[in-house]
Amino acid sequence: MTERAVVIAGGGPTGLMLAGELALAGVDVAIVERRPSQDLPGSRSGGLHSRTIEVFDMRGIADRFLSEGTVAQVAAYLPGKALDISDFPTRHNYGLGLWQNHIERILAGWVGELAVTIYRGREVTGFAQDDTGVDAELADGQSLRAQYLVGCDGGRSLIRKAAGIEFPGWDPTTSALIAEVEMAEEPELGIRRDDLGVHSLGRLEYEIHDGEVVYMDGGPVRVMVTERHPGPTGEPTLRDLSEGLIAVYGTDYGIHSPTWISRFTDMTRQAAAYREGRVLLAGDAAHVHSPVGGQGLQTGVQDAVNLGWKLAQVVNRTSPESLLDTYHAERHPVAARVLRNTMAQTVLLRPDERTEALRDTVSELLRMDEPRKRFAAMMSGLDIHYDPGE
Ligand SMILES: Cc1cc2nc3c(=O)[nH]c(=O)nc-3n(C[C@H](O)[C@H](O)[C@H](O)COP(=O)(O)OP(=O)(O)OC[C@H]3O[C@@H](n4cnc5c(N)ncnc54)[C@H](O)[C@@H]3O)c2cc1C
Repeated sequence: MTERAVVIAGGGPTGLMLAGELALAGVDVAIVERRPSQDLPGSRSGGLHSRTIEVFDMRGIADRFLSEGTVAQVAAYLPGKALDISDFPTRHNYGLGLWQNHIERILAGWVGELAVTIYRGREVTGFAQDDTGVDAELADGQSLRAQYLVGCDGGRSLIRKAAGIEFPGWDPTTSALIAEVEMAEEPELGIRRDDLGVHSLGRLEYEIHDGEVVYMDGGPVRVMVTERHPGPTGEPTLRDLSEGLIAVYGTDYGIHSPTWISRFTDMTRQAAAYREGRVLLAGDAAHVHSPVGGQGLQTGVQDAVNLGWKLAQVVNRTSPESLLDTYHAERHPVAARVLRNTMAQTVLLRPDERTEALRDTVSELLRMDEPRKRFAAMMSGLDIHYDPGE
C-alpha cells in the first residue's frame, strides 16, 4: 500500500487546482482520476471570471490562460447582457472566453510541472478512515493510504455519498440538451427565445468584436435546446437532440457526427458539511446548480485555493487540525450564495410574459450604476471576502 499525505479523488478543474496548491506547499499529493486522459468530451464551462483569473495570477499562471482565450466583458446576470467591470479596481477587469477542455489542459500542464502523480484511468470506489488516516479503495482492488482524502469527484460524488454527507436542496424545474455536432445545413446562429425558454446555436470557434460574438465559419456547432419538461437522467441520444431541435427550429439542420450530447438541469444542492473527519469535499462534489452565469468552475477552483494552504499547514504540522473547519465556515456561504443567485437567474429565464416584464425591470435596474457594480462584483467573484474575525 502506498502512503501519501493527501489523495484527491477527481482531476477536474477543482482537483487539479488543489493538487497544484498542495504541491507548491511541499505536500506529497496524488490525484486518482477515472478518465484515461485529460481530454474532456464536450466543452462545458465557457471561461473564467475575473476573480479566477486573479487567483491564477497569484500563482503566476494567468498568462497561460489569457494567451489562449478571448478577453471580454462576460459577467452577466441576465444572459447576453454583460455587466461592464472595466472600472473595477483589479488588474483583470474583464473575463475570459476559453472552453473548459483548454482550461483543464492548461491546469494539468501546470500540475505536471509540479510533479504531482496522477493515477489516470483509475477510480475510487470507497474509503475507510481511522484516527490516523484514510484508505482510498480503487476499482482495481488496490488502495492508497493518505492522511487526508479530498473528494473533487463532481456532482455525483462517490466520496460525498460514502462519507454519509447530506446533499439537501431542490430538484430540477427545467432541463436542456447540450451538444457539439456537425450540421449538413447552415443553422441560424445565436440565441432564440420562445414559449419553451432560451435556446442557442453557436460555433465553438468565435471572436468578440465591440461586445458582439462573431462566429468563425465551419466546424462543429454547440447546440443548447431547452426541453418542455425536465428530461430523464439517462444519457440523451442523437434522436433526442434531433427532436429537441425540430421542436424549436422546425428542423434539425441535418445533424450528424456528435462528439458530445448531454443534458443539464437547474438541480440545486449543497453538501451539508464540507468535512467529515479526514475526508473533505470541494467543487461540484460540494455544490451543484444551473450553469447560468458560469459560476461552477470558478467556485470549485476558489474552493481549492481556500482549502489548499490550510490542508498544507495541517499536514506540515504548522497549524492545528481545527484550521480545516474554517474551510467550511468560509466556503459554504460562498457557494450558498451562488445557489441562490442561480435559482433567481433561472426563474428570470422563464418564457412567460410576466417573467419577460420582470426581466425588463431587472435589466433596467442593472443599467444603473450602483446595481451594475453590485451584481457584476457578485457574478465576477470580486466581492467574495472572508471575515477575518478578532
Ligand atoms: C453545460 C455546462 C456549462 C457550464 N458552463 C460553465 C461556465 O461557463 N462557467 C463555470 O464556471 N462553470 C460552468 N459549468 C460548470 C463546470 O463545468 C463545473 O462546475 C466544473 O467542471 C466542476 O469542476 P470539478 O472539478 O469540481 O468537477 P468535475 O469537472 O465534474 O470533475 C470531476 C472529476 O472527477 C472524476 N471522477 C468522478 N468520480 C470519480 C471517482 N470515483 N474516482 C476517480 N475519479 C472520479 C471525473 O472523471 C472528473 O474528471 C458548466 C457546466 C455545464 C454542464
